Amino acid sequence: MIVDYHMHLRGPSEGREGPIEHTVEAVERFAEQAATRGVDEIGFTEHVYYFRELDRFVEHPYQRSRLGHELDAYCDAVVEGKRRGLPVKLGLEVDSVPGREGELLELLAPYPWDYLLGSVHIVDGEAVDMEPGLWKRLSVEDVWSRYFEAVGELAASGLVDVLAHLDLVKIFGRRPESSAVAAHHAAAAAAVGEAGVAVEVSTAGLRKPVGELYPAPDLLARCRESGAGATLASDAHVAGDVGRDFPAALELLREAGYETVTVFDGRRARQEPLG
Ligand SMILES: [Zn+2]
Ligand SMILES: [Zn+2]
Repeated sequence: MIVDYHMHLRGPSEGREGPIEHTVEAVERFAEQAATRGVDEIGFTEHVYYFRELDRFVEHPYQRSRLGHELDAYCDAVVEGKRRGLPVKLGLEVDSVPGREGELLELLAPYPWDYLLGSVHIVDGEAVDMEPGLWKRLSVEDVWSRYFEAVGELAASGLVDVLAHLDLVKIFGRRPESSAVAAHHAAAAAAVGEAGVAVEVSTAGLRKPVGELYPAPDLLARCRESGAGATLASDAHVAGDVGRDFPAALELLREAGYETVTVFDGRRARQEPLG
């Protein structure tokens, strides 16, 4: 089985980012693209920070500028896709909300999530994946340390089922020395193993300055050793990117020792043969 468990429901576009379109017609276009790429099941993971119902969890100015869409419309579009027999799952990309996980889960409880995807984009109020962001305040070493501390806390929080782009902090290609990288990898893998969350192998990093898959081979192998499950992810923001570059992602998974992929239904995980 091949899944793509990270994408943002958008309308048609020439570029990499389509306009917001939370409709069943958009769900159908993404499902059609999945079929042509040999992807068996897709999961939508719109950002929390698009939804006005969740605005009390959104603080960063960039994220606040995205607010204004309706959570009900998004969920209804995906649920209607399911009703029409499409192999689609309902997810949400959730930024870490230290200390407020219970409050967020309560707000999300009425919706039929298949899984929640956890991301660290913002640390100490500054973006890791945008410039200048956190990079103007801290050294590369300290950005990495603060980022992976936040990842460990998110894993342990019980908020999410899968961690997205686990080493997003490498996005601009800046890294501390290799012994420090290895130490961060070891700590992150231990945290995901202990928490029982899965990690995604994302091809989005191939389209970013770093030009690599997330996570690094060493980090993924350590996650495998710690017993973490794995999913596949394109982080598509336009239908054409669904399943993009998946042969490379499958190769990375197999090299790390994965023979199964984690599949979710109603926030319950199970393993299916990979491929
Ligand atoms: Zn993300
Ligand atoms: Zn995303």
